[in-house]
Amino acid sequence: MKVPFTGLEVQKDRLRHQIDARISKVLDHGKFIMGPEVGEFEAELSKFCGAQHSIGVANGTDALQIALMALGIEAGDRVFVPSFTYTATAEVILVLGGVPVFVDVDPVTFNIDADDLVEKISQVKASGHRALCVIGVDLFGLPADWEAINAICAEHGLASIADSAQSFGAALADGRSVGTLAQITTTSFFPAKPLGCYGDGGAIFSQDEDLAAVMRSIRVHGSGQQKYETVRVGMNSRLDTLQAAVLLSKIEVFGEEIRRRNELADYYSAALGDVCEVPQKPAGVTSAWAQYTIRSSERDALQQHLNNEGIPTAIYYPLPMHLQKAYAQFGDGEGSLMQSENASREVLSLPMNPYWATQEADMVIAAVKSFLA
Ligand SMILES: *Cc1c(COP(=O)(O)O)cnc(C)c1O
Repeated sequence: MKVPFTGLEVQKDRLRHQIDARISKVLDHGKFIMGPEVGEFEAELSKFCGAQHSIGVANGTDALQIALMALGIEAGDRVFVPSFTYTATAEVILVLGGVPVFVDVDPVTFNIDADDLVEKISQVKASGHRALCVIGVDLFGLPADWEAINAICAEHGLASIADSAQSFGAALADGRSVGTLAQITTTSFFPAKPLGCYGDGGAIFSQDEDLAAVMRSIRVHGSGQQKYETVRVGMNSRLDTLQAAVLLSKIEVFGEEIRRRNELADYYSAALGDVCEVPQKPAGVTSAWAQYTIRSSERDALQQHLNNEGIPTAIYYPLPMHLQKAYAQFGDGEGSLMQSENASREVLSLPMNPYWATQEADMVIAAVKSFLA
């Protein structure tokens, strides 16, 4: 018997009727580009996370690119990013002519390390290059330390972008949600993200009306008030009406799914805490649990064992950005960001399924324990 890595099949069965009906409605009205569902879904996003402005876009990578364009990135600008992340976070900087400055991560949260960030900012300032912003990543669904990052950004005159592709749905102990924690927040609705559609999709959030207006314009070729008026260089990155329709059904159950993800994570941690390093989060924080990621010095053998037992796992990510062929020239090579390098060797993500009863979680737990205990 093989257990699934996510709950997407069960979710599809659960929502099938509603989604079919919403898709049918789009086929009937025929407004496939920027149809009414896009605006409706943007309103639901704002309601869900408390952001004043929610902007649907084509995917999470474009969301980051639009955010950097709205901040006025120029060739040679330095942008600080954690090295232990998905490739898109670094890619968009280079596409726009910027230069990524790789920062190490905290070994417990896997998110950007504030001390190393300060160190890297001083180095860039000493070099005389313009430092534009920090892109913090809420890896695996846990918000980065935005209080610390925002304070550092304020002190050094930097903008902040939260790459929340994995963390939409998460919230802090004081109730503030992802979408409101940085100057600009981006997310992705890639099917496997906590809130996923049936294709590509993404969104941008901001509390800043002027920035939001610029980003809405960039989304549609830098358009102005008049039809066919172009007031800035933009791109084509609209959220499809059909994907917005799918997301309107999925967001109805998203809050409940986030609760169940947190219950499963708590259950895993209570059972596995004494045999391996389980994820830690500050008290009161709700993670979106895009991934439940443990650490083990015997990671590869453990993964093989779990595979033999029919338990799927994944390694996010096997190589930090400063060691990737495409980006290595912007880093300082092996040994320069030790926490990112160690994490890449030790992380293993276990199945995360908001539709599981405890028996399925017990199978995963038993298989992990039979190897590590
Ligand atoms: C998935 C992801 C992205 C990119 O999102 P797409 O919608 O696939 O373009 C960016 N950053 C992180 C951290 C991600 O996990």
